[in-house]
Amino acid sequence: MNAIEKLTEIFGKFPGIGSRQAKRFVYFLLTKDRLFLENLSKNLLSLKKNIKVCGFCHRFYQSEISRSNLCRICSDKNREVETLMVVEKDADLENVERTGVYNGRYFVLGGVVPILEKNPEKLVRVNELLSLIESEMKNNGLNEVILATGVNPEGDNTRSFLMTLLKKSKEKKLKLSTLGRGLSTGTELEYSDAETLKSALENRH
Ligand SMILES: [Zn+2]
Repeated sequence: MNAIEKLTEIFGKFPGIGSRQAKRFVYFLLTKDRLFLENLSKNLLSLKKNIKVCGFCHRFYQSEISRSNLCRICSDKNREVETLMVVEKDADLENVERTGVYNGRYFVLGGVVPILEKNPEKLVRVNELLSLIESEMKNNGLNEVILATGVNPEGDNTRSFLMTLLKKSKEKKLKLSTLGRGLSTGTELEYSDAETLKSALENRH
């Protein structure tokens, strides 16, 4: 395998990137000078150096000088601690955050549960979620969990899996809600605009 093929294979593993697009990236890089490529490799190599995983929401964040193991959102005292929004991935959280329509806290599942999956707990952070909910209800008065997964077959499956699981747990006082009709079929949180998210949140049920 030559260098072009090798790099094409790597880019082909990126989410949403097919082999044709992967090849375009490679040819794009071939048109760039040495400085551009060096800068790219340098940034790739340092990407994980200053990145931590938040101890509460599990998203990736740039660790600052502080020793805290919490991201900026989770260490913010002004966030409402009664509501927890469960999202599939970091990009969803970032988009909801960008729209500014939500002031509670988040939990990043780290994926979806495919239909007929036998071991969901191996794919998403189910156990972490359950213990977080339990301790937050006890210590911070958490009373609502918003299951904000995508409106597509895998997102639906993930939502109903979590719903069943959380209903089964002894936490009867917990309100479970899902985003309302504002979100149309095929919607991913990552790409929703502020208006859509706002109405989906207001209409949650
Ligand atoms: Zn966090």
